[in-house]
Amino acid sequence: MAENRVVQGRMVTPTKLGEMIEGGEVMDADAIETADRECPECGEDVLEVGYMPEITEYVTGWKCQECDWKETDRG
Ligand SMILES: [Zn+2]
Repeated sequence: MAENRVVQGRMVTPTKLGEMIEGGEVMDADAIETADRECPECGEDVLEVGYMPEITEYVTGWKCQECDWKETDRG
């Protein structure tokens, strides 16, 4: 069951949100959750999604619902 969320005015699937954060294709993604943090750029809600850019890599990414701000847990 894909739970789509609105990001910057568009409905996105978990995979699409992962792709917005990654800037490229994503193989699979977990459900989107609302992160317990605010966007450092605009103060709006931040969404969190775990995704796999490739089969051997798992990334947790964050994306603001209202602006272009995004971040991942890569070091
Ligand atoms: Zn923002």
